[in-house]
Amino acid sequence: MAQHWKILVWLIAGVIVGLLLQQITEAPGSIGATLGSTSDGKVVVQSISRNLTPKGRTAAEKLTVGDRISKIAINAGMADENLLDSVSSPEDVSAFLASAGAGGVATITLEDGTEKSCQVILDPGSDRSRYLYPFVFLADIFMRLLKMLIMPLVFTSIVTGVAGLGGGEDFGRLGRRTFGYYVTTSFLAVGLGLVLVNLIRPGDGAQLGLSTAAQFGQESENWLDILRRMVPENVFDAFTGNGNMLQVIFFALLFGFFITRAPEKPKKILTELLDSAFQVVMLMASWVMKLVPYGVFCLLVKVVGETGFDVFIPLSTYMLTVFLALVIHAVVVLPLLLSIVARVSPLKWFRAMSPVLMTAFSTSSSSLTLPTTLNTLKSRGKVSNKTSSFVAPLGATVNMDGTALYECIGVVFLAQYYATAGDYVLTFGSQVTVVMAAFLASIGAAGIPSAGLIMMLTILSALKLPLEGAALLLAVDRPLDMCRTMVNVWSDTVGSAIVATREGEKGLGDFETAETAES
Ligand code: ASP
Repeated sequence: MAQHWKILVWLIAGVIVGLLLQQITEAPGSIGATLGSTSDGKVVVQSISRNLTPKGRTAAEKLTVGDRISKIAINAGMADENLLDSVSSPEDVSAFLASAGAGGVATITLEDGTEKSCQVILDPGSDRSRYLYPFVFLADIFMRLLKMLIMPLVFTSIVTGVAGLGGGEDFGRLGRRTFGYYVTTSFLAVGLGLVLVNLIRPGDGAQLGLSTAAQFGQESENWLDILRRMVPENVFDAFTGNGNMLQVIFFALLFGFFITRAPEKPKKILTELLDSAFQVVMLMASWVMKLVPYGVFCLLVKVVGETGFDVFIPLSTYMLTVFLALVIHAVVVLPLLLSIVARVSPLKWFRAMSPVLMTAFSTSSSSLTLPTTLNTLKSRGKVSNKTSSFVAPLGATVNMDGTALYECIGVVFLAQYYATAGDYVLTFGSQVTVVMAAFLASIGAAGIPSAGLIMMLTILSALKLPLEGAALLLAVDRPLDMCRTMVNVWSDTVGSAIVATREGEKGLGDFETAETAES
């Protein structure tokens, strides 16, 4: 069975198993504390088994032994707030937590009026937790495998991409034009994504059931700090943490560039070595990608089992936002550039490039599409070998407009969620970080299925947001991936046409005339 069908089948199976688990088990919530009664009939905290104070809250907000509880509200301030107005016994609290379920933030008011904050998690002793455990375990291993590949993929793909530019006199001119196009369209894409995600706001108040107590610290850096931190003090340090991806990307860009400037011998050795490493890492990645159906299954069981089907409702708005941005970019922005800058009819170019678009859609991989792209640019697009073999392979790794806008929407979506469900603050500064990081991530993403999602982890780390969010987005990633890959290669072909025109090439996309003349 084709991989995308397989994923779909496992995805549906995951939802079904998750729903079944919901039917046959209870999901009592827990605030990580044992409660008891005092002799005067009050409810008091007897022991703390787990500190569930959301990060970023003050120490005074931590629930402590001896606290006398008078009121509990879950998701205070949100539309679906649950309230236990007068706490009279520990059993009351258990019943309340069982009915409210796991996955919110509890605001606990004490007798003296002070307020404490607590994450409500699935009671670890419950049947539901026990049944879910194997799925959670496997889903974690799957996520670790994906994360394991981040660093080697980014480094080898960027270095080989940039080094592939080669030297020579064409290098400067072609390089400037090509990169000028890549940078312009990628920023247009990210900008479009940012505008749409801020207009539609799919993450506001979304019920994703993600732990808001996870490890985020506030993003306090300003834009210049981010720029400064892009330059690593110690490259080996940068390689040791997935959060330092911008530093690795920076180093890889420079390293790749200076390979082209190196004397013949080191240039040859390094290019071959890194190219071989890239190929092997790609093999590892495609091996991990074989696990995607099962990974998605486990993640879905976990998500649906813990939080229910509601998770797809906020995700559907998120998906629609991504689709809308992709359509506007592919149907309005790129065609405008094509007709204004290259004076090529977008419709004609679209017809000429349709084999590329279909291949991209079904493989979800710019790299796998590359042979078709090169062939089609030459035979149907009438683009010269010199231009196409320069613009297309580089574009398959470096130029990903669809991925760029997807990164932006995905990250801001999660940040909006954490801003309304937890206490994350999505500042203007962090939005600027997202723009820059989404641009760099689209350069860093390898042209393989779901690479964009893996890269999203790096932006989440840069914003100090928890990584589980991306795991959730994986559930709906395949359809989005197919569409954004199509936009990625569509942009590569439009770029080839624009660069070719600037190089003085004529008759672009005239495959029908040529075919008629030949017959
Ligand atoms: N699959 C995409 C591509 O190959 C990358 C991504 O996941 O965004 O172009």
